[in-house]
Amino acid sequence: MTASQPVEASKAATPTAKAADIPSLERLLSSASGQTLAGEVGRSRLTAILRQTLDQARAQVLSGSLSTAALEPATLLSQAQAQLAAQDQPRLRTVYNLTGTVLHTNLGRALLPDQAVQAVIQALTAPANLEFDLSSGRRGDRDDLIEDLLCELTGAEAATVVNNNAAAVLLMLNALANRREVVVSRGELVEIGGAFRIPDIMQRAGARLVEIGTTNRSHPADYENALGPRTALLMKVHCSNYAITGFTRSVDIAQVAEIAHRHGLPAAVDLGSGTLVDLTQWGLPQEDTVRATIEAGADIVTFSGDKLLGGPQAGLIVGRADLIRKIKKNPLKRALRVGKLTLAALEPVLALYRAPELLPERLTTLRLLTRPAAHIRQQAERLQQVLQQVVAPDYEVQAMPMFSQIGSGALPVDQLPSHGLIVRHVGAGRSGRALQKLESMLRQLPRPIIGRIVQDALWMDLRCLEESDEPAFIQQLPELTA
Ligand SMILES: *Cc1c(COP(=O)(O)O)cnc(C)c1O
Repeated sequence: MTASQPVEASKAATPTAKAADIPSLERLLSSASGQTLAGEVGRSRLTAILRQTLDQARAQVLSGSLSTAALEPATLLSQAQAQLAAQDQPRLRTVYNLTGTVLHTNLGRALLPDQAVQAVIQALTAPANLEFDLSSGRRGDRDDLIEDLLCELTGAEAATVVNNNAAAVLLMLNALANRREVVVSRGELVEIGGAFRIPDIMQRAGARLVEIGTTNRSHPADYENALGPRTALLMKVHCSNYAITGFTRSVDIAQVAEIAHRHGLPAAVDLGSGTLVDLTQWGLPQEDTVRATIEAGADIVTFSGDKLLGGPQAGLIVGRADLIRKIKKNPLKRALRVGKLTLAALEPVLALYRAPELLPERLTTLRLLTRPAAHIRQQAERLQQVLQQVVAPDYEVQAMPMFSQIGSGALPVDQLPSHGLIVRHVGAGRSGRALQKLESMLRQLPRPIIGRIVQDALWMDLRCLEESDEPAFIQQLPELTA
């Protein structure tokens, strides 16, 4: 691939423009293409853009740097059109996630299954019983839409939902431990990306953190010894994005709950990713389910909607009815509540869990996580040739085995066998810079391709490029060299 130079407009061919050569705004607007454009973008918007275009032209004429050809109405209008198109380019763009991280927080985490998408469209375009009880005709509670389902799937007595899991933890702590103490092991005082740190959230929630144990080891007696008249809660936090290995000991939820209950206190667990089904049945790493956590004795469990659950961004709180009631009555609940789009998407996603054996087919996140490595490999072999042709002769493309990650803090050390493309720069010159250039050009495509640079190569894990996306993926590749 050799980057082509933009063709320089030949300035010598036409004479230098004078102010009198600048067409009037009226003339541009009333031209045929001006009228067509006005029909598309509205006359007032076109007028404003053309004024800018003409101002720029005037300034360039004054400095003697413009040819008369540049003042042709067609030229000025197409400049305006390009500017309008640039303004209309959405800021939130669809990309290809070839990073190898399936639940990539920066790329929007879980992708919604079709049922959820249809439900969101319905909720967007027609009134719905968001807070209206259809059986009594009276005002309802938006949590009612998903509470039964959440209880059915987790074994909890009650449930509520807020904007994300960070909000769930904040609200839970404020509702249950304001101005009182919460006991947490030092090994669980985690920072999740994006400034979510357990000690900070605790402080903002008005709770006082009581740290026990050490980074690598905590014992039941550490919890016992920390209890006092001001203790409100014993809490466990999923370590999410890091793992403690070696000389370690943590107290499991059953033991923490037993200690809490013996002192008449609740035990809370922030599960983070929180899955509703046993993932090992699909060969995925073991992760405690919400149900198992409740069965082990947790009184309150918080987890995300858009991590392993595979739904929309949301924070789910499930647990004992009296505690959930307190949480729902807290004023922060109103501030952190979810909108109807979230609820519309969440319900069908939860409903899919009623048929667990069909989940790998129906739940997009699980479909991606369980894509057979052999399929991804065949895809890599197909795409290797296509990409190689486009980027030759400067780059060499290989189809190679690699490992994907689940992402979003789920099971950070476990990796999924996958396959992908590894691109290296060949020939003379600095390969680091050449790779960065390729990486940047991939990001500039109409649908940007996001890979990652590992040492001296660009890696593109194909796990998240579903076969149905392949034709469109291939189709835009030639634009890399356009
Ligand atoms: C991800 C995570 C959070 C934050 O959840 P969001 O839904 O991103 O707000 C909180 N706690 C744990 C343990 C997590 O893994």
